[in-house]
This record gives sequence, structure tokens and C-alpha cells, in this order.
Amino acid sequence: MRLPGGTLTLCTSPIRRTASVPASTSGSTSVNFVPTCSTTDARSLELLQDFVFKARHLLVITGAGLSTESGIPDYRSEGVGLYARTDRRPMQHAEFVRSAKSRQRYWARNFVAWPQFSSHQPNSAHKALQQWEERGKLHWLVTQNVDALHSKAGQSRLTELHGCSNRVLCLDCGVISARKQLQRRFEAFNPHWRAQAGAVAPDGDVFLEDEQVLHFRVPPCEACGGILKPDVTFFGDTVKRATVQFVHDRLAESDAVLVVGSSLQVYSGYRFLLAASDRKIPVAILNIGPTRADHLATVKVSGRCGEVLSAIQPF
Ligand SMILES: [Zn+2]
Repeated sequence: MRLPGGTLTLCTSPIRRTASVPASTSGSTSVNFVPTCSTTDARSLELLQDFVFKARHLLVITGAGLSTESGIPDYRSEGVGLYARTDRRPMQHAEFVRSAKSRQRYWARNFVAWPQFSSHQPNSAHKALQQWEERGKLHWLVTQNVDALHSKAGQSRLTELHGCSNRVLCLDCGVISARKQLQRRFEAFNPHWRAQAGAVAPDGDVFLEDEQVLHFRVPPCEACGGILKPDVTFFGDTVKRATVQFVHDRLAESDAVLVVGSSLQVYSGYRFLLAASDRKIPVAILNIGPTRADHLATVKVSGRCGEVLSAIQPF
């Protein structure tokens, strides 16, 4: 199976660089979070096609670049990521645990952002990967995203390395509950509290003034009265050892690794590329812009995840 020769232009429209993120969830705004990329050359696309075609037990690692096409901004993309657009930084784990005020601020913003954040839908990249699983190509998928879009797409051979914002964890008794249930409790606890969503970050955070946050009430765990936290790994926290080992085990069963939409700057994902290299498992990378593992990859494609994955014929 060969793709047509010549140069394919996979990123045709330059994104609009905005100082703040529009609150609208319409499809037309989602492209704003996808960084510009130069044309994807047919040769690298062909190499990726061969790479996927030959793989029998493919392990795929995905990151925020996959979800920008669903309208969710990432942190690091040049010009459009949250780091580039604002001076805001994500919640640190230690601060969340230590400070009731920080939790109040976090949950107030998360409460406002939830209706929009939870409404995002899988895009063609998520759907392509789900198809690969259904047809036996994909051995396992490891995502660094917490947006639940892979599970919404029907992916089941899935490890959410950094958790999922659709779930809530009690820090005291460990009970897991549904985030949507907590939204109803927030509403019951704050019947008159109103705030307008500004911009949504990858972890579901939004921008609110201090005085808006001051009167927001955060309910405790229903089971034990403990502290509730999204079931996601905040910055400064570590992924559970059992989860890391589980992924290493799936990696050991694989014969190829494909990275999709991640710069691999965070070690929790990058370590699996080091492990793949140690095991002499070939690596391919599909991402707009450079990644930390480029030197480990035999194939590197720069292009939009949805367009490239949809173009690949895995069998
Ligand atoms: Zn509890």
C-alpha cells in the first residue's frame, strides 16, 4: 500500500493566535489550539504507513497534541499552548493537598469549566486508533491526556497514565466517584454562585477573580468527609508504580511503538521511549514540532494527528 507521490499539504490553514481562549465550543474555534506546521512530505508519510503496516503488536502513546483537534488547548505548543498564551501554570500536587484555599480556587474554576470541558468529543485521530484496536492492530494505548476522549471513542485497551478528569478521588479513603455527580453536588452547595467561564486549560481549569472564588463552597467526600481531588496526576506528583509497571509489561509484548501528538517533555511518558530503545523496539513519532525522543525514532512525521492517522491504512 503506497500513498501518492508528491508533497501533501496536511496543514493548510494557519491558526489564529489569540491572547485569550474564546469560551465558545463551536468547531470553528478548535483549530486555534492546533499549532501551525509545515507541509508533511509524502516520503515520511509513506515510511509511517510501512511502519504501522508491518507492526503486529503496536503500542501507541498519545499526548495533548491529539486533543487540540477536539478544541482542548495543550500546555506546550509553540504560540498556541497555554504556556505561550498566558502566565498561568497548572496546579501543583503539593499545593492542592496543603491549601484549602487553593482547592477552593481550583474547584471553583473546574466547576465553571466542566460543562464545556466535558462536552468535547473525540476527533478523527481518536476514532482511527479505536478502529486499529477493533481490527487487532493496536496492542495497547497509553495516553497522557486526562480528557476521557479515548474512552469516549470506545478505546478499551487503554491506560490513562495521568488519570482522568471524569473521575474524582478521595484523598482520605480512596473512593473513586464520577465527576458529573460532583457537579450536581457543587450546584446544590452553591445555589446562588455564578461565574462566567473565561478560558479552559487542559486540566479543565478556567480563569476567575479572587473575589469570585471566595464564596464558592467545596463539598467533602460523601463516604468519609475527606478531601476530594480530580483523579488526575497533578504536576509534582508521580504516576503509581503499578501503573508504570503495567505499561512496561505491555511494552515488552509489543513490536513497535508509535507516539502521537506528544513532545514527550514529561518524563512519565518519555521513560517508555527509553525502555523501547533498550529493548530495540522501533519507534515512530507523529507530532507537530520537535520531541524529546526524536533521536530514538526511525520515522518522524510532522502533521495533524487526525489527518495523518486517517490517511494510514494499517492492513
Ligand atoms: Zn473519602
